[in-house]
Amino acid sequence: MICPNPNCGYEGRSRKRARGSLLIGLILCSFFLLPGILYFMLMSGYRYYCPCCDMQIAVDN
Ligand SMILES: [Zn+2]
Repeated sequence: MICPNPNCGYEGRSRKRARGSLLIGLILCSFFLLPGILYFMLMSGYRYYCPCCDMQIAVDN
């Protein structure tokens, strides 16, 4: 990937990060099952960041 930030210009691998917090999802599931499941559905997938300037590059569902 190439960073879209003109001040950065990083070329190479992007950093992958989970969208939601697993802990919050588990807490929701243990108290309210349905919102917990919904949270996991909405928060599944990953976001990609530039490791140099931390700019978000892409969202993968
Ligand atoms: Zn960058």
